[in-house]
Amino acid sequence: MVTGGRERRRPIRSCVACGRTADKRDLIRVVRSPDGLVSVDATGKKSGRGAYLCRALACLDTALKSRRLERGLSLPAPIQEQVVASLRAAMADSAPGGPGGAPHV
Ligand SMILES: [Zn+2]
Repeated sequence: MVTGGRERRRPIRSCVACGRTADKRDLIRVVRSPDGLVSVDATGKKSGRGAYLCRALACLDTALKSRRLERGLSLPAPIQEQVVASLRAAMADSAPGGPGGAPHV
């Protein structure tokens, strides 16, 4: 019995805010390191528990309002403002108003 062919290797993740699934590289990863520090993981390689967001401010806002990042990361406390700030910066950086990036919310 042969189940030939390989699966595509693109890792798919879903946004904690809108649930949209996308290539991991199209999402922003927020990671909580084993010692509890939360940071934006630009490389996708940091170890720790991660949560993903679309590169869209709307999703960031949704995630913040509904505490979905905290839930996704199992954080005991609200996410720090400096983390939010770097998330906003990362989104502004990586979303040059390009086409096709806007999620339908
Ligand atoms: Zn989203």
